[in-house]
Amino acid sequence: MASVVVALLSWIHAVAGYEIPAALPAVQFVSHQILVDTMCEGIECPVAGMYLYGDAVYLDERLDVETDPLHQSILLHELVHYMQRQSGLFTPPSCATWVAAEREAYRLQARWLSVHQGVHPMMRYMPRADLCEPDARTPRKAAGAPSSGNGAVPPADDGPHERPTE
Ligand SMILES: [Zn+2]
Repeated sequence: MASVVVALLSWIHAVAGYEIPAALPAVQFVSHQILVDTMCEGIECPVAGMYLYGDAVYLDERLDVETDPLHQSILLHELVHYMQRQSGLFTPPSCATWVAAEREAYRLQARWLSVHQGVHPMMRYMPRADLCEPDARTPRKAAGAPSSGNGAVPPADDGPHERPTE
């Protein structure tokens, strides 16, 4: 576990410039229900990790951060928050600083996934370059167009960004 944490902290340091902390944060695995109770007021939600401004990050016990790149990216997201906290940036606490911190954490998570998993899952929603007929006002077809961008399960095709073979 420690080697994964060190690797992720080092990557964040290299990409975002945050100092690597002298003491590694603890990674504590907890039940999904504890995450839901803490972050979503007990109402089921897809939370998989949290950081509460202490010396530990908390992850859903079902995550495999040793081998699964997507699960590792969730740990990375929480470690970004840990390093943000250590840096003293994103203060004083406010909605605006929270939004800025979250956006940075999500951007770094997506960038890390693009390096380690090939294609970020949300890239599957990017419309194809040949989606439109010349001079058309609307897309050729609705399939593959983004719906609401709410993190819905990606379509089970080969990826709408790839070139057609016909
Ligand atoms: Zn976050």
